[in-house]
Amino acid sequence: MDDQDDDDPGLAGLSPEFQAMLGGLAGHTASFGKMLEKRANMSKESARKKDDDVYLESYADLSIHEDMLKDIPRVEAYSKAIAFYGTKWTESADTTVIDVGSGTGLLAIKCAQAGAKKVIAVEASRMSHFLKQIVTDNSLSSCVEVYESRAEELELPEVKAVDVIVSEWMGYFLLFENMLPSVLAVRDKYLKPNGLMLPSRCRLMVAPVERQNWRNAKLDFWKEVHGIDMSALMPLAVATACERPQHCSVSEAELLGHPIPILDLDLHKVREEDLKRFEMPICFEMPPGKRLDGFASWFECDFGEDPSLLSLLSTSPSSPPTHWRQTVFHFRQPLEGGGGVSLSGKVVVEQHEVYSRGYRITFELNAAGRRPRLETFELR
Ligand code: SAH
Repeated sequence: MDDQDDDDPGLAGLSPEFQAMLGGLAGHTASFGKMLEKRANMSKESARKKDDDVYLESYADLSIHEDMLKDIPRVEAYSKAIAFYGTKWTESADTTVIDVGSGTGLLAIKCAQAGAKKVIAVEASRMSHFLKQIVTDNSLSSCVEVYESRAEELELPEVKAVDVIVSEWMGYFLLFENMLPSVLAVRDKYLKPNGLMLPSRCRLMVAPVERQNWRNAKLDFWKEVHGIDMSALMPLAVATACERPQHCSVSEAELLGHPIPILDLDLHKVREEDLKRFEMPICFEMPPGKRLDGFASWFECDFGEDPSLLSLLSTSPSSPPTHWRQTVFHFRQPLEGGGGVSLSGKVVVEQHEVYSRGYRITFELNAAGRRPRLETFELR
């Protein structure tokens, strides 16, 4: 069985000590094992609070905002959508918008300039201090109200319901950072029954890939380094490089098949529970002479149903690059020489039980005459 895979070092063939070291922790590094142990002794509540603090502290740093503001496809998608609806907001002169996670205020200010009567900008990180000043400096204090609070704790005594919720909550692999539940909490509390969510719909896709350049740089590199045989490090290189998904730019030439949608979120309807765990069947045929190195993933967002607003923001390999790039799951055991092989199985996505803002992603694949593949990744 699996003759063509025999060249693959994989985890097999290692010394028992090494296997125990790598396998015993199910792919986690020893340091992660220690962290897990520490965390297991923390209450769920204090672990979540710690994650929140670390997460929000990261947004007090200017560089993350710089990356987002320099991401032209991202800025253009939101700008186009806001301009599209702005015409109606100007006509009605009565539109209220909440910007969940306003950051440096880009979206709140765009909405105010496009014709919203009132914009409520909520920001939980220390960036909210500067956000207030930015709003004042742009002479928008009468229209944009800044709330320095967590979205979940937003209290608006004078506002019963709003017409629009805008938010840029998307993380790597769409869901990483797990900010979406904060947006849904605001939706459920404040959005009018026929109100508008921007974005309105998001799809998460995966596609099989062969990544020779990555393999050369991260794995085969260790075969011979400056004339020295360092192949003893190969198993460690595999375990290290494949433990977590990588955020990198994938070329279209690296794709081995069509994208497979694994999640389709209607932002008007999705509930927090829907994000805790989901799975989707995966089925594709390997092109001749190719090797399956893993899967690339990306997402696309609609900003309403008008054709000009569909997939207005896409992070696919065929779209202009964004700061999200693509998220790649490199398999520890690639599938070699795949001409005509049919693969079927599923991908399972589960919220991380320890890191409240992380996920665990598992690919299970079968092909006739091949060892089954079970590849698990920590997104944290
Ligand atoms: N809207 C801005 C920033 C988007 S990044 C822009 O498009 O440029 C997401 C922002 O949401 C960060 O500034 C982060 O601090 C904030 N945020 C994340 N979770 C939040 C929560 N629960 N409540 C309030 N703000 C939150």
